Amino acid sequence: MDLSIIIPAFNEHESLPELLESISGSVNPLNLAYEIIVIDDGSTDTTLEVLRALKQKYPRLKVLSFRKNYGKSPALSEGFKIAQGKRVITMDADLQDDPAEIPNLLAKLEEGFDMVSGWKKNRHDPLSKVIPSRIFNFVVAKLSGIPIHDFNCGLKAYRREVVKSIQVYGELHRFIPMLVRWQGFRVGEIPVLHHRRRYGITKFGVARFFNGFFDLLTVLFLTRFKSTPLHIFGFLGLISFFIGLGVELYLTWHWFAGYGIGQRPLFFLGILLIIVGVQFIGFGLLAEMISASLAENVNYSIKEKIE
Ligand code: UDP
Ligand code: MG
Repeated sequence: MDLSIIIPAFNEHESLPELLESISGSVNPLNLAYEIIVIDDGSTDTTLEVLRALKQKYPRLKVLSFRKNYGKSPALSEGFKIAQGKRVITMDADLQDDPAEIPNLLAKLEEGFDMVSGWKKNRHDPLSKVIPSRIFNFVVAKLSGIPIHDFNCGLKAYRREVVKSIQVYGELHRFIPMLVRWQGFRVGEIPVLHHRRRYGITKFGVARFFNGFFDLLTVLFLTRFKSTPLHIFGFLGLISFFIGLGVELYLTWHWFAGYGIGQRPLFFLGILLIIVGVQFIGFGLLAEMISASLAENVNYSIKEKIE
């Protein structure tokens, strides 16, 4: 199998027939052995019936239907598990991503990238979504050091090894490039066509902004400090501890000089900083114990074995 195309779909019954038509139109000429995997994420409309009917017309179609709505990340994750292709493409079901870009993404992979992310350069979404998303992408690019413009584009291409080694759960699909890069894979980007949503509505409300922020913390934490939690907690703890200690030493000196210090706000701040500092260090040590006991099950990302 050369290529697997994975499509998460939650209540997208109007879009799916056109989507499959358009995928066939742009992939058939490439002469590849390919499969289309649609993950019906617990749709409550006729998505599943539509897919059953489409299977008659498109034998390459495979469908996995969740009993309930789990979310885009779990849908992608299950798709990654069953994908058989040497290359994997993901795209949204709502016709906002254009299958005409599939050959371009595959060509970019051949340049030596392990994953290529689409960049919705000319985006057709409401401003209320585009502006927060710009800020989000800017912050994530800076913090992760990955120089791409669009982390959360549904249209992406991967080499098989990549999708078999990342864990996309919760709502971490927004951070896939970070998860991929962290395993040591090369991440690239190309601008892709983007269309306005024609049918149905967006499946993510305002909650996406808050969740996105918390998930950013999670991902930073999991990628950088998962196996070395004391590096972050110990660092913060020491800073807090020494500032607190400095404050109290200064007050001690005042006390010897004959001033009262028991009523000074600074006195309490110093104590607080020392306690927080010690707590953080203890917390970091505890986290180290947890990570040490999990270490047996850590999977290192192996590029090649020569025997
Ligand atoms: N999706 C899904 N499960 C969900 C939410 C969304 O499978 O719980 C799918 C949805 O059907 C679409 C893709 O994820 O194919 C992107 O969703 P949407 O277009 O609503 O996101 P937006 O373009 O507004 O960011
Ligand atoms: Mg969409």
